[in-house]
Amino acid sequence: PASVLLNRAVSAMETIRRQYGVSVAYYDAKVVEKQERDDAMESAFESAIEKEDFEVWYQPKYSAKTKKIIGAEALIRWRGKDGKLIPPGEFIPLFEKDGLIPVLDEYVFKKVCCYQKKRQSDGDEIIPISVNLSRASILRKDFVKNYIGIAGRVGIEPSVVPIEITESMAVKSISVTPFAEDLIREGFSLHMDDFGSGYSSLASLQILRFDVIKLDKSLIDFIGTPGGESLIRHTVAFAKESGMSIVAEGVETEQQLKFLQSIGCDSIQGFYFSPPVSQGEFEQLLKKC
Ligand code: C2E
Ligand code: MG
Ligand code: MG
Repeated sequence: PASVLLNRAVSAMETIRRQYGVSVAYYDAKVVEKQERDDAMESAFESAIEKEDFEVWYQPKYSAKTKKIIGAEALIRWRGKDGKLIPPGEFIPLFEKDGLIPVLDEYVFKKVCCYQKKRQSDGDEIIPISVNLSRASILRKDFVKNYIGIAGRVGIEPSVVPIEITESMAVKSISVTPFAEDLIREGFSLHMDDFGSGYSSLASLQILRFDVIKLDKSLIDFIGTPGGESLIRHTVAFAKESGMSIVAEGVETEQQLKFLQSIGCDSIQGFYFSPPVSQGEFEQLLKKC
């Protein structure tokens, strides 16, 4: 039937989305396999939330000056039936497309709130642990009220769970702006994620009152090239002048760290110090620090 043909053509087209030099795609075994994997993940989603098969991992953020842990980012992983971890890159884009992502984002937010509360009750030092939000989460009805309600019921200050939204979301999605402003008004800290990953512009930093900008790995990888270093130096200077603090993401080498320290970058997140780790390992790292 024509409808099936059309669906298959669309599925094939999806595999070359944003690859502007490629104009032909085939509906083949690989496409079928991916579709089956996506279907399986969608039908397993609800029970995975119930059974808590989604695990929150933590990647520490280190002070560039003292090399101590001063914060962390919560990153989701899915523990599959075979016990293996599925990285977010394999399911976040799917759940963004089919509309399931707000449920997952809220799940992570709740988990992090509860974890912060536990640390508070145990008398542990509280460092901010940020969460990532997709566009659909922010645009959901009563989103800010809902998140404030969760933080209030758990009994933590919103400021200990900063919210990361990507630069492209802040720029392209004007509809996101009023919700983000409400978040700030309610005491959340707003972090601009992945700055420099697309067609970035310094003007995007003026759209909302971000407390922190996170330099994307693709910018950090420029370190070592004269033009790249100058670009990063000026971006950092501009952000600092505007009162924002800077986190460098994807820092993997000593050379990158030294350069970032020399230009006054505030915090470092990357494999050089630590990859994302389970909660247990994160606590070990905190004890060592
Ligand atoms: P992100 O928010 O930009 O998170 C940083 C990603 O960079 C993480 O990938 C982290 O493991 C990786 N990374 C950190 N340091 C290094 C490094 O030195 N080298 C390299 N090669 N990679 C590094 P991860 O955990 O696979 O997450 C990928 C993306 O998935 C995240 O990018 C975020 O956009 C999304 N994501 C993760 N958890 C959630 C969530 O709970 N909700 C939503 N909406 N998105 C999430
Ligand atoms: Mg992030
Ligand atoms: Mg990022």
